[in-house]
Amino acid sequence: MPTAVVTGANRGLGNEWVTQLLEDGWRVYAGYRSEPGKLTHITDKSLIIHQLDVQSNESVTSFSQIIEEDVDLLINNAGVGDGRWSNLQEIDDKLSLEVLDVNALGPVRMVQALYDKMSHDSLTKVAMVSSLMGSVEDCQSGRSYAYRASKSALNMFTTAMKNEALGRNITFVILHPGWVKTDMGGSNAPVLMSESVKGMMEILQSQTLDNSGRFIQFDGKILPW
Ligand code: NDP
Repeated sequence: MPTAVVTGANRGLGNEWVTQLLEDGWRVYAGYRSEPGKLTHITDKSLIIHQLDVQSNESVTSFSQIIEEDVDLLINNAGVGDGRWSNLQEIDDKLSLEVLDVNALGPVRMVQALYDKMSHDSLTKVAMVSSLMGSVEDCQSGRSYAYRASKSALNMFTTAMKNEALGRNITFVILHPGWVKTDMGGSNAPVLMSESVKGMMEILQSQTLDNSGRFIQFDGKILPW
């Protein structure tokens, strides 16, 4: 049975990842920041849940230490928004640093902590859940400053890390889930969580060492940097 790790799994897209991975026969280690939330409704024996705050090195280390198996898939899903319509005079440095810490450095901490467990003979896949809002080329409207910057930084961390990780048999994909109906996406979002994660799971199936580092959305469209 292959082993997956999902961050931010108590609600939203993270919880949907857990559901679809279990249906597909994965053993899933799922992290929740404070409350297990929707994870408590899942009774599957292949699910192991544990506290995980990706802002805390201590929490990331203790989460990684409960994992007994090699890790074959890491879904770096946890993320926060930034009060998106505030203008440039309202950019708040404390909030901005927190958004950068969670969205850009959180996934890096996870890769570092699991690097040895992900380095084995068979291919390991790492999904960085980014956003089209991290695309410099696509940014026509402004606003959402810290969120956009955090996802651009995540994209660059990933692009740089992928080269070093090739020798470890680890491939990265940078995913845009679409605009999805979740607490973050809001009720007007056109894409359902089930549709988004189904699409991203299909992309993962086509992931190889050769195409490591793609920036791609849930329906397979390659995105501009
Ligand atoms: P939600 O706000 O619904 O869920 C976010 C999840 O991340 C929650 O489980 C939350 O936990 C967790 N989280 C936040 N901070 C931390 C932390 N420090 N450590 C661990 N977990 C944390 O968001 P979505 O499900 O919509 O988004 C999931 C990912 O998809 C995010 O990375 C987001 O940026 C990205 N995305 C979403 C889009 C959308 O339209 N929904 C569009 C583009 C990208 P808690 O419950 O404790 O707050």
